[in-house]
Amino acid sequence: MSNQKIPYKIYLEEQEMPKQWYNLRADMKEKPEPLLNPATLQPVTLEELSGIFCKELAMQELNDTDAYIDIPEEIRKFYRMYRPSPLVRAYCLEEKLKTPAKIYYKFEGNNTSGSHKLNSAIAQAYYAKKQGLKGVTTETGAGQWGTALSMACSYFDLDCQVYMVKVSYEQKPFRREVMRTYGASVTPSPSETTKVGREILKEHPGTTGSLGCAISEAVEKAVTSEGYRYVLGSVLNQVLLHQSVIGLETKTALEKYDIVPDIIIGCAGGGSNLGGLISPFMGEKIKGKRDYRIIAVEPASCPSLTRGKYAYDFCDTGRVCPLSKMYTLGSGFIPSANHAGGLRYHGMSSTLSKLYHDGLMEARSVEQTAVFEAATQFARIEGILPAPESSHAIRVAIDEALKCKETGEEKTIVFGLTGTGYFDMMAYEKFNNGEMSDYIPTDDDLKPGFASLPKVD
Ligand SMILES: *Cc1c(COP(=O)(O)O)cnc(C)c1O
Repeated sequence: MSNQKIPYKIYLEEQEMPKQWYNLRADMKEKPEPLLNPATLQPVTLEELSGIFCKELAMQELNDTDAYIDIPEEIRKFYRMYRPSPLVRAYCLEEKLKTPAKIYYKFEGNNTSGSHKLNSAIAQAYYAKKQGLKGVTTETGAGQWGTALSMACSYFDLDCQVYMVKVSYEQKPFRREVMRTYGASVTPSPSETTKVGREILKEHPGTTGSLGCAISEAVEKAVTSEGYRYVLGSVLNQVLLHQSVIGLETKTALEKYDIVPDIIIGCAGGGSNLGGLISPFMGEKIKGKRDYRIIAVEPASCPSLTRGKYAYDFCDTGRVCPLSKMYTLGSGFIPSANHAGGLRYHGMSSTLSKLYHDGLMEARSVEQTAVFEAATQFARIEGILPAPESSHAIRVAIDEALKCKETGEEKTIVFGLTGTGYFDMMAYEKFNNGEMSDYIPTDDDLKPGFASLPKVD
């Protein structure tokens, strides 16, 4: 097949879709550090985790021995409604850049929720249903995760309670209404429905909320309601596991045409799409079968890998979840108010953190105006209006392709295009009006976040 002209889109047949997820941790010689119980500082047990998450998901979270885990048929059925996602050869972009590089992107925006988050949402909803739960609770900021979860819950007829940061609830009515259309109940946070919400409202009347507060409300609601568990859309090992479907499909599609990537690029918020995209490639790299350059891209205004500390920290601003060893800016870190490009999480998946720490992966930070320039260029040339998050990967893919133009190298670049930007037009408006600026935190700005790190010895 190698001399065949490569099509604009490489699709897979249904029977070529993965039947198992790939659990990269099983093949890592150096495992990521275990989650710790914040009270005892001992590794969390299955029993402890099962109080927060569904049993089967808690087992996946702790599993670093099974390389392959079957994807239940019910989940594969749902995947077939919107997967396989296309792997696109960016011929138009290559031509416009006049680069000898070959650029491919895996597009995860072809579903109503508009991002890759649905890949894990459907798995988490399935295991909740299988356990006989009534429903799940979660928080959402901008709304991508809440939207994906509401779609997944409606499919399995599960109750879905979303705590949405009040300012987003008011300013982003479209995502809110998508969630309600799929049957979720969406509560602006802080709210009167939880003890922690009532306390915050009493202390700070008129507050517009924060992600940390929404998490605290969602967790309280889950642990005080019979038949409910709390679910999270990124960062966790289980989420990276489900997202491996992205990388497995990508690898199968490339192999159909004997294509071997030189560079693999992804945006990194909590690390789930990047972890999923790179997993089968990183597996080969760890086993010494092939070498790939792997680049994580993060915002300069929230630089957890490039400027964070590798330390145990809370996964959530509400400080209720287990401690995770990761590159972190501290759970108290809040990006500057002018930050518009998403990926605002303070830490990074423990698996990716470990790979980065061991030198198996690179990281780069980019400024938001450069990200929106790349987004606009991509939209005009390739036709897809990208999510701001995804555009971090576009920025670095273009930069690498331009380097190839200088050196004449015909490198093959693959990047993850995680979603569409239809619900992010306020950020695009800011950019289009020339009102977007870059702010890179100073070392002093980062100090309070680091000071919020728990003491763990
Ligand atoms: C949530 C999101 C991300 C970042 O999350 P990761 O867990 O780092 O993948 C990236 N792109 C889009 C479109 C998202 O919705």
